[in-house]
Amino acid sequence: MRPYMEYTKEVRVIDNPDLLVVGGGIAGFSAAVAAKRAGVDVMLIEQYSVLGGLAAVGGVGAFCGETKGQGEVFDEIVWKLERLDAISPYEPYEKREARPFDHEVLKLVLQDMAVKEGIKLLVHTRMVDVVTENQKIEAVLVHNVSGVQAIKPRVVIDCTGDGVVARYGGFPCVSGDPLFHKALPMSLIFFMRDVRRERPNSLPEDITKYSPENVPMVSLWPEPDGKVGVKFKVIGFDPTDGLSLSRAEVFARSQIFSIVGYLQEFAHRTGLSEDKISVKTYKYDYASMQIGIRESWRIIGEYVLVVDDLRIGRKFDDGIAVGRFYLDALDPNTDKREHIVSSEALEVPPYHIPYRSLIPKDAKNLLVAGRCLSADQLALSSARVMTTASMMGQAAGKAAALIIENHLDSPLDVDVTELRKILIEHGAILE
Ligand SMILES: Cc1cc2nc3c(=O)[nH]c(=O)nc-3n(C[C@H](O)[C@H](O)[C@H](O)COP(=O)(O)OP(=O)(O)OC[C@H]3O[C@@H](n4cnc5c(N)ncnc54)[C@H](O)[C@@H]3O)c2cc1C
Repeated sequence: MRPYMEYTKEVRVIDNPDLLVVGGGIAGFSAAVAAKRAGVDVMLIEQYSVLGGLAAVGGVGAFCGETKGQGEVFDEIVWKLERLDAISPYEPYEKREARPFDHEVLKLVLQDMAVKEGIKLLVHTRMVDVVTENQKIEAVLVHNVSGVQAIKPRVVIDCTGDGVVARYGGFPCVSGDPLFHKALPMSLIFFMRDVRRERPNSLPEDITKYSPENVPMVSLWPEPDGKVGVKFKVIGFDPTDGLSLSRAEVFARSQIFSIVGYLQEFAHRTGLSEDKISVKTYKYDYASMQIGIRESWRIIGEYVLVVDDLRIGRKFDDGIAVGRFYLDALDPNTDKREHIVSSEALEVPPYHIPYRSLIPKDAKNLLVAGRCLSADQLALSSARVMTTASMMGQAAGKAAALIIENHLDSPLDVDVTELRKILIEHGAILE
């Protein structure tokens, strides 16, 4: 069998929006809304049926970091969740590292906002390839039930989390640590529900019998109405490799009943979570659609944010977002609760993310936002949280608007003083 074959096909061009945002996670949603509010014709494509990314399909149900002053788009999401009693009361980051919300309600809030803003939304639509000429993206190929089609935007923002627009477009990307390229580990999140009876379910006989000695890292967090979220660490797989990612999903799901059995047996005794939740009367309810990917491809941008920038709380003239979450760099080599850095070195002061970290090197009409930003692995472990991802998205959206409005030839031509001014006017606290 020949290892390669050529494939050529004429495809229909379905739109030529000013801006195409690929990926409807928190970063992509925020980018799309921010640009639309600046008067741009925006199309947003998402491979799943719902907006919210890992929060929607990965089961992540808490905003880490500071939830105030993150810019008007994020502030509005929070305000809407508050009105629907779908988020816990505000406390500053210094007092509480994560603010839980109901991710089912989040999906509805985001969709409603996107539709009302007038964003051209295409769900069930996956970006499959990119046509680039002289560092400029000429077309983005997408696939949905209508087949393969092309979109020809003026500017693209890659908010896929995996940096796949940049990667397929031929822009340099990197994954994992510098030596072994091992990405931060994945985790699967599933949910259990209180059915108020002991021995709530029968479990398969051939499950792994975990004990406190051999169980992988498990975290529990209580949700309203008798639900509990369960997250467990999955190691040994590569999220940038299709086959390995597929195996990770299958393996992780094969462990769910084993973890349930373990929790029913041990959680109430060992107090696995700070709340010492007993799940003796809880049964397995459902698992997230997608395994949680903490890191896959990161772009190599005009600036690579490094962990030392975070440690000194570095501020940049082109700072467009503020990160403050600790270095949540779980060790991919062990399934235990261990970090790559020592526990004393996890905290960082508030730091800036420079606009240049959103620009793939030499790109003429491409920006990124969210967890595929240009950063080293440790810097990413902090900057990837949803508050900061949303700030990056808003900045990329406003920057795209400036590129389009002023007919700029490169994202580097954006006047960063003006961009920062716009972001501050729109509610971002950039100190
Ligand atoms: C296990 C785990 C727990 C976490 N816990 C927290 C937490 O408690 N609090 C917190 O703030 N953060 C947490 N994070 C981090 C946070 O969830 C993510 O870093 C954040 O959601 C990143 O947002 P994003 O928009 O950049 O990417 P994503 O949320 O990954 O969104 C990317 C979107 O792009 C879409 N997409 C990808 N490829 C394509 C394509 N080819 N075509 C079309 N669409 C595509 C995806 O479907 C997705 O909707 C956690 C992460 C993990 C993995």
